[in-house]
Amino acid sequence: MLSITVGMEMLRINWIILTLVLCLSLVFAADAADLDLTVVYDNNPYDERLETRWGFSCLLEGPERTIIFDVGGEGSVLLRNMEKLKIDPNAIDLVVLSHIHGDHIGGLPTFLKENPDVTVYMPRSFPMRIKEGVLGVGARVIEVRGPTEICKDVYSTGELGDLLKEESLVVKISKGLVVITGCAHPGIVRTVKEAKGMLKTDIYLALGGFHLGGMSSQRIEEIVNKIKGEGVKKVAPCHCSGDLARKVFKVVYGENCVLTGVGKRIKIEEAFK
Ligand SMILES: [Zn+2]
Ligand SMILES: [Zn+2]
Repeated sequence: MLSITVGMEMLRINWIILTLVLCLSLVFAADAADLDLTVVYDNNPYDERLETRWGFSCLLEGPERTIIFDVGGEGSVLLRNMEKLKIDPNAIDLVVLSHIHGDHIGGLPTFLKENPDVTVYMPRSFPMRIKEGVLGVGARVIEVRGPTEICKDVYSTGELGDLLKEESLVVKISKGLVVITGCAHPGIVRTVKEAKGMLKTDIYLALGGFHLGGMSSQRIEEIVNKIKGEGVKKVAPCHCSGDLARKVFKVVYGENCVLTGVGKRIKIEEAFK
């Protein structure tokens, strides 16, 4: 009789331990979030259902806020691409604008008509009329000058460049940094160095427009090797990177170069732990 009671008791304790382990593993699993990057606007084709136009926009899902970095040139194209990708513009919390060029900010009025409940980060040097336009529809404006924390693990490099100011987005993940550039007018090598220096962390992935179109192959090779020399592990050149530079990146980086275009999704698992 005693042994049956002890046996039952052991079973109960085992059951409690098992339940506890299951609960804990669920809590930790929920903590580790992925980073999902989706190029929603680009001049390079990828997903055949989507429209290509000169410009750039990339959606970031996974950080504590959902962010759209740049909004392309034509808002209607941006929204149509998002619809085909089943992305709800109203799920976006923050808009980050890299620089003043129309192929990166032209889609803003149309986007804000769809979702005015956002905070828009922009270089402080942007003209007053743009800031007033954003405030006028009820959205919030944050002017960025130096390195800035946008939300947990997401930063802006701050305004870089001399005449034309540009900010890039930097996400700190378990594997290192993800740097996303609009056009990289201040120079892709400089942008990469600034991001590394800002967070004292190596770069896992650089994605976006690297602005190497029209350069000689010798100059491109120099720049690609400098990026590699900075320890950037993976690259995803698109937008204004140029066809020749994309080819050189592919040769130098091999499978660590992801040729990116509109609709390309890059999922980094357990990016945030
Ligand atoms: Zn530009
Ligand atoms: Zn551009």
